[in-house]
Amino acid sequence: MATEPSADEDTARILIVDDLSENLLALNALIRQDDRTIFQASRGEDALNLLLEHEFALAILDVQMPGMNGFELAKLMRSTEKTRQIPIIFVSAAGKESNYAFTGYESGAVDFLYKPLDVDAVRGKVSIFVELYRQRREARRQVQALEKSRQEQQLLMAQLLSTEGELRSALRMRDDFMSMAAHELRTPLNTLFLETQLRKIQLAKGQAHIFDTDYLQTMVVKDQRQIQSMVRLIDDMLDASRVRSNRLSIRPTQVELTALLARVVDNLSHQADDAATPITLQAHAPVTGLWDEFRIEQVVINLLTNALRYGRGKPVDISVHLLPGNVRIDVRDQGMGIPKAAQQRIFEQFERVTGNDGTGGLGLGLYITRQLVEAHGGLIGVQSVPGEGSVFQVTLPLSPPPTDPG
Ligand code: ADP
Repeated sequence: MATEPSADEDTARILIVDDLSENLLALNALIRQDDRTIFQASRGEDALNLLLEHEFALAILDVQMPGMNGFELAKLMRSTEKTRQIPIIFVSAAGKESNYAFTGYESGAVDFLYKPLDVDAVRGKVSIFVELYRQRREARRQVQALEKSRQEQQLLMAQLLSTEGELRSALRMRDDFMSMAAHELRTPLNTLFLETQLRKIQLAKGQAHIFDTDYLQTMVVKDQRQIQSMVRLIDDMLDASRVRSNRLSIRPTQVELTALLARVVDNLSHQADDAATPITLQAHAPVTGLWDEFRIEQVVINLLTNALRYGRGKPVDISVHLLPGNVRIDVRDQGMGIPKAAQQRIFEQFERVTGNDGTGGLGLGLYITRQLVEAHGGLIGVQSVPGEGSVFQVTLPLSPPPTDPG
């Protein structure tokens, strides 16, 4: 029969095994203390079950028991991983059993008590084993705590390293952006500077007469083009920074899309002529919706400008398709196209397709375009075959979703 008291984590469990209940009672009374929990078993089999279920500081085994005797029980304990290290005190009748009847000394501590039991010897030995057990348990706790804090430190270190990596790449991105922006601004600025130098030389040589109406007109158009390209770059940079700080807002009003597209195409006609790229608008009926007129213009200008830049001089086509609750604008070119692998990332900041010639900008145009379309509750995507051309598709709801007041 086995007796199982309840035990909290801080007590030391002691197992006493004896076939005589009066011996169990006496031993229990002798070693009982508040910080100990005594388990009792009157048979080796019951003792084994208890040993496998709980963690013990000590087992006190009567050597002479019917059935499985104390030495046999101890032998089984030493052959099982969970119970191998449990210290054992054998209780035997003085002079009857010899110590050499047990062989498993090398695994855990072993001691002997002889009947009739000496109260001080019993208490003293039990106290030593319980103290040793407590020290072992404390050492184990400290090792576990150390291991836990080592793992936490490792995690923290990994987080630090990844944050450092992110910071470094953000810094690199900013540096790249600065040099790209400087380079992109330098190009139109250089052209303007050379033009003014040329005019200065002509004036210095007394050739003011060449500045007739035709000359002036060409000069103004050329200058405007350089200035516009600088304004566009600066506006893109400002918009991208607005997006990053969540300050890009849209102000929807009633807009008629077909008229808006016709106006944009007309405004780009000089650029289209320069690129020898005709732009055709296919929009048959008026389409009215609630949009931010200026921002939708910006979306269309960005897509058409790209189609002119990367369209290899082949015709560009813009068309409007009315869908239930939405309108779709397709901008189609027959230019160099975009490889599949780049079709997603070109909508991210500073992303450009490598291998495209040097006609590109900062890689911000499509990023801003996507933000503007999404701010209207719309979607933008591209279908493209390298060498054949691209279709950029913008789908806009006829009225934007209500904005989050927060
Ligand atoms: P960029 O100012 O460089 O044109 P965008 O964000 O507008 O920046 O475009 C990103 C990149 O996508 C471009 O650098 C170009 O490589 C590619 N791209 C955009 N539009 C087209 C197009 N119509 N045909 C081919 N490539 C394009």
